[in-house]
Amino acid sequence: MSPISPWRADFPGILALEAEGQTYLDSAATAQKPQAVLDALLGYLASGVANVHRAQHLPGERATRAFEAARSKAAQWLNAASTEEIIFTRGSTESLNLLAYGLEHLLQPGEQIVISALEHHANLLPWQQLAKRRNLELLVLPLDHTGSIDMQQAARLIGPRTRLLAVSQLSNVLGRWQPLAELLALARAQGAFSVVDGAQGAVHGRHDLQALGCDFYVCSSHKLYGPDGVGLLYGRREALGKLQHWQFGGEMVLDADYQSARYRPAPLGFEAGTPAVSAVIALGAALDWLNGLDHTAVARHEAALHAELLAGLQSRNGVRLLGKPQLALASFCVDGVHNADLAHLLSEQGIAVRAGHHCAMPLMKSLGLSGAIRVSLGMYNDGDDLRRFFSALDNALDLLR
Ligand SMILES: *Cc1c(COP(=O)(O)O)cnc(C)c1O
Repeated sequence: MSPISPWRADFPGILALEAEGQTYLDSAATAQKPQAVLDALLGYLASGVANVHRAQHLPGERATRAFEAARSKAAQWLNAASTEEIIFTRGSTESLNLLAYGLEHLLQPGEQIVISALEHHANLLPWQQLAKRRNLELLVLPLDHTGSIDMQQAARLIGPRTRLLAVSQLSNVLGRWQPLAELLALARAQGAFSVVDGAQGAVHGRHDLQALGCDFYVCSSHKLYGPDGVGLLYGRREALGKLQHWQFGGEMVLDADYQSARYRPAPLGFEAGTPAVSAVIALGAALDWLNGLDHTAVARHEAALHAELLAGLQSRNGVRLLGKPQLALASFCVDGVHNADLAHLLSEQGIAVRAGHHCAMPLMKSLGLSGAIRVSLGMYNDGDDLRRFFSALDNALDLLR
C-alpha cells in the first residue's frame, strides 16, 4: 500500500504547487505551511497591528499577549523549564551567531570548540570565526560509515581543553539522528558548554530539552511548518545568564545614559528592536497545530514514505546513497552523472529537489563529492509524489547515460 497523507489537504501551498505540476520534495530546506498558520498570520495582521512590549494601548496589549503566548507555547513544546528560557531570533543561523558572540568572553586562547564533520555552515562558520578571534582550536569529530558521529573517536577527542561542543541533532545531508545523549555526557564531564543545532531534528517527533540536558538548542520556524523570519534559541537558565549581550537598541535595555547602559536579562535582553511580531504569533499557531496532530500517525507515515524512498533509490543501478539515512531525507549521487545536470532534468519535469553541497561544503569535500541530490519529505508528501519523482529520475538517467 502506497502511503497517502491525511494532512496534505491542510496545506494550500502543496495543492497550489501540485496544480502547477510541481512535486515538492525539499521540505528540509523549508516546509509548506498549513492553513492554520496562514489564518493566524492574516488574522493578526487584519485585526489591527501594534508594536509589542511598549504600548500602553489595547492593540499593543493584545499584540504583546499573543506574542508572549507564542513564547509559552514554544517553551512547552520543547519542555523548557520556563518561558524565560526561550529567545526569539530570526532563525537557527542567527541563534548560532548570537551564541558565538554571547559566549566569546568565556573562552580563552588555546581552548577547544568541538563540532562534527557533518555540520551545516550555520553551525560551523560562527565557531570558525570565534576560533579565529579568540585563538581557539576548532576540533572536528569524524563520522563513521553510516553518517553518525563516531563515538569512540569522540570519547578520545573531547578532553579537558574542550570548552564548547556544538553538534547537529539530525543531519540535513545524511538524515541520521546523532548520538546526542552520549556526546552531551562527554561535554558535561569536561564542564563544557553544549549547543545543539535542532534545525532539522525539531520537526520530527517531540523533544524534551530538560531531559536532553543541553545548555542551548536552536531551531527555525520555517522548517517547522511555521513562517520564515523567526527562530528559537533555547538556553538553560544558568547558561543564558552567562551570555554577553550582542545586539543593542530598543527594548533590551533597563536603563540608559549617554555614556553607559544596563541591559535586561534573557529573553528580552537578547531581542533588541522590533521583533517579527506577526511571524512569532503565526509560529505559535504552527506549534498549536503540531500539538494537535497524532504524532504516532505522522511518524508512521513519514517512516513508510522514507522506506519507499530508500528502496526506490537502492534498486536503481549506479545510485549511491550518502551514509545510511534513518528518516526524513536521503542524499545520493549517480556514478558518471553530475548532480547539477540531473537536478536540471528533474526540475524540467516539475520535481523540486535540492542539488549541491547543502550548506555543508566540508562534508561534501570529505566524501570526495562536488555535490549530491537531496530528496526530503514533509508530512504532506505521499506515494504519488515519490512515483512522480522516480519516473522523472528514470527519464533523466536514460537521457544522461
Ligand atoms: C537549515 C539549517 C540551518 C540554518 O537554518 P536557517 O533557518 O537557514 O537559519 C542550520 N542547521 C541545519 C542542520 C539546517 O538544516
